[in-house]
Amino acid sequence: MQKQGVRSKTKQLIHELFIDGKTYKEIAETIGSNASAVAARVKLYRKKDPELWPRLKKYDDPLNIEAEVYKCLDCEVLFAIEKELEFLKDVTCPFCWENRLQMISSTVFKVKNLETH
Ligand SMILES: [Zn+2]
Repeated sequence: MQKQGVRSKTKQLIHELFIDGKTYKEIAETIGSNASAVAARVKLYRKKDPELWPRLKKYDDPLNIEAEVYKCLDCEVLFAIEKELEFLKDVTCPFCWENRLQMISSTVFKVKNLETH
């Protein structure tokens, strides 16, 4: 929880760049991170505030997303996060940023039509 101030400043910066239409790679270079970590953060932010993070790409095909379901040991929220990406090592709760998490299960989401509206 003590990192929250830093986190939200980073979030603001990511949001400005995102709305500017910068790619995840460009955002990552600006904040000193990597593209998959930025993509992960945007996904988490979007889950919480979908209207603030409009999708820039339109997906026509259904996607199979392999995900792991975690439970936050602090606020007890359940959330799923995409597998295979290197950011899994650095998973934090999307609501309180706690990193004491319990992995509940592994699952596959079939996602059709990932449009905002
Ligand atoms: Zn939490």
